[in-house]
Amino acid sequence: MRNYTEAAERSTERRRKEYISIAEKLFDNPETRFRERYASVLLIKKLEEEGFRLEKGAGGLPTAFKASFGSGKPVIGFLGEYDALPGLSQEAGCDEKRSCGKAAGHACGHHLLGTGLLGAAIALKDYLMESGLPGTAVYYGCPAEEGGSGKVWMLREGVFDEADMLFTWHPDCINRVSPNDILATVTKEYYFHGIPSHAGAAPEAGRSALEAAELMAVGMGFLREHLPSAARVHYAYLDAGGSATNIVQGEAAAAYQIRSPRASEALAVSERIDDLARGAAIMTGTREEIRFQRASSQLRVNETLNDLLFEALSLVKRPDPDRESLALAERLRESLPENARGETEKKAREAYGSPEGTELAGKYGQGPLITALCPRSVKKVLYSVSTDVGDVSMYRPVGYLNTACFPKDVPLHSWQAASFGKSSFAMEGMLTAAKVIGGASICLVSDPSLALKAATECKAREEEEPYVCPIPGDAYPVIPEDESF
Ligand SMILES: [Zn+2]
Repeated sequence: MRNYTEAAERSTERRRKEYISIAEKLFDNPETRFRERYASVLLIKKLEEEGFRLEKGAGGLPTAFKASFGSGKPVIGFLGEYDALPGLSQEAGCDEKRSCGKAAGHACGHHLLGTGLLGAAIALKDYLMESGLPGTAVYYGCPAEEGGSGKVWMLREGVFDEADMLFTWHPDCINRVSPNDILATVTKEYYFHGIPSHAGAAPEAGRSALEAAELMAVGMGFLREHLPSAARVHYAYLDAGGSATNIVQGEAAAAYQIRSPRASEALAVSERIDDLARGAAIMTGTREEIRFQRASSQLRVNETLNDLLFEALSLVKRPDPDRESLALAERLRESLPENARGETEKKAREAYGSPEGTELAGKYGQGPLITALCPRSVKKVLYSVSTDVGDVSMYRPVGYLNTACFPKDVPLHSWQAASFGKSSFAMEGMLTAAKVIGGASICLVSDPSLALKAATECKAREEEEPYVCPIPGDAYPVIPEDESF
């Protein structure tokens, strides 16, 4: 493996400045789900320069794309993401919440994620050119991971069919291959259409959509008792019918999101919630309209690919944190609520037990930025989050890496995470991911038996639990027209 990681390190180091500049540009131009025009154009430009063949609008999504280099098997995919989060505009390097004047912000590090995988795909391309070995590198430009499940739409349209295996990573505060289980999720929007009328003069003529939405929420309260134990339901009012008290609200809408360890359970709960909407509409004399929004499945990481990633992660060296990153990390940690501090150490103890977890937590305790490597032997921990990588991992072998890019205890989707996104520690974490994933993918083209082993593992698990796409055949993604999402 050492030869392979060294090849990926050379490829990445040669383009270090360029990758950092791309990640900075993505950070400075945050775009939310399905609107990532700037980001997709920027990444496409670099891939074209490197000689990749481009297919724009992959799966019918305007900001999705596919860039391939080489020919023959194995076909190794890289799941690039580049979308930002609504409402998380944040000035980089600032230790207080301060908007940079944009609507959105990169608080989940996808500017690093998309660029890191660009580096990995190019490292594999360099190796294919040097070695003359058969193999294809494919960078998949995947929009709308946040709130859009972009990859699931792409999967349904067959975009990943040609890939033998795929890699991804996510910026984190620790370095490890990810063994976590994440939750499947389904989100639908419920619109109620009633009859507006004067609430004082003619209440009998009105049919309140707001009452329907509220009765649906009451029904949800009772339904919670009957949910599978690990399931969660979140909801938000999209439209409460306006601010006037003297008008019977003719229109109202709410969104419900279900999370559960299995997609099949989440879909079953979702059907019961549909019934709540129907019942509420009958009770209030309104009409319900149910719009599917998105869904994604649980994660099934491939242990063969994760073993490779772990080996590569153990070999790739990264510089110690610089003074400026350390100082910013310390100030950002101070801005967290008291009870959030120590969270990373707590998770290490939970995941590894004693004495390994205690020892790891001790290493974490040495400063705000973590350089230690998590041992491979970890019990699975259920994370109550969801990602559209889940579906790809149920369908094809997927290796999943985390590298430290953020200060410990700082949660993703926070202004603190966004503030740290342009630090040199974050950039080094991104370059490390490029080198590790690049090295692991080079290893796969060099040793076809490993590719076969990963495929056999995936097939065996598919037989145990077949993949069913959670998106209905007649649904299409809702592409927002403005930056309000
Ligand atoms: Zn993310």
